[in-house]
Amino acid sequence: MPPRSDPVPGKSSKAPIAKTQILRTLPALRRWRAGLRGRSVALVPTMGALHDGHLTLVRYARRKCDRVVVSIFVNPTQFAPHEDFGSYPRTWDADLAALKALNVDAVWAPNVATMYPEGFATKIAPGGPALAGLEDKFRPHFFGGVCTVVAKLLLQVQPDIATFGEKDYQQLKVVTAMARDLDIATRIAGVPTVREKDGLAMSSRNAYLSPEERAAASTLHRMLKACAIRLKKAEPVAQTLIEGEAEIEQAGFAVDYLEARHAETLARIASIKDGPVRLLVAAKIGRTRLIDNIAV
Ligand code: AMP
Repeated sequence: MPPRSDPVPGKSSKAPIAKTQILRTLPALRRWRAGLRGRSVALVPTMGALHDGHLTLVRYARRKCDRVVVSIFVNPTQFAPHEDFGSYPRTWDADLAALKALNVDAVWAPNVATMYPEGFATKIAPGGPALAGLEDKFRPHFFGGVCTVVAKLLLQVQPDIATFGEKDYQQLKVVTAMARDLDIATRIAGVPTVREKDGLAMSSRNAYLSPEERAAASTLHRMLKACAIRLKKAEPVAQTLIEGEAEIEQAGFAVDYLEARHAETLARIASIKDGPVRLLVAAKIGRTRLIDNIAV
């Protein structure tokens, strides 16, 4: 395939609209990748059901690299049997239209048999931030599944950068540690959380919320902000968190955790002086489990 002669998208308003390639097999992906010859490549891994949070990662990737590939793969190995793999929202047509509108160069959309062919027997077992006692405590299978699929995606695509949302803060730290520990030559770039007008972090799972649950869900971010203000005023950590939990329970949430952790190591902190501090929460409203976090 001859090298493309169009200018780097985003650098010129006259940049022609790139044709978005849909890649479904490893040979097709490898052919596409081999044709890029020295262009910088950004990968945006997703599970589809795209919203503006995902699209912000794509815009970031577009600014940083010559070529952008978005992966869409609902990864079965990061769901426990009782979780929502079967019902996870799948909105392929809308996803593709949104990615084409953003001038994405390729969509990598393998099926389960391509990612996990018969006889697949290798798993990554992350430590460090993956054992911080946050998401891992409630979803013990999760980070093993995430790391295995992300490692595969990074090896398949060989991107210069890969973008991950701060929305999934522990995941961002786990993937960053994995890339460092395994000498994967991709820069892991964290992108700030995109929120609805009332502060609720955008999430594909927000689609599960009833109108009443959706109205109550904004309490999560309000509570995080209020706790952050109290901690900045050096109010005691334990008392602040107990009262924060009570506030969201009042709004109808069942809390898995609300914790103040070191923003880099995710280690427990006794006081704000042990920071930089990140507040992280996971809570269920009805059948929907939501997570969120902010910097203090
Ligand atoms: P998912 O499809 O939920 O696996 O998410 C794919 C990527 O989008 C992950 O890196 C997420 O952290 C990121 N992401 C999801 N929601 C948001 C959001 N509201 N703001 C920023 N990034 C997000």
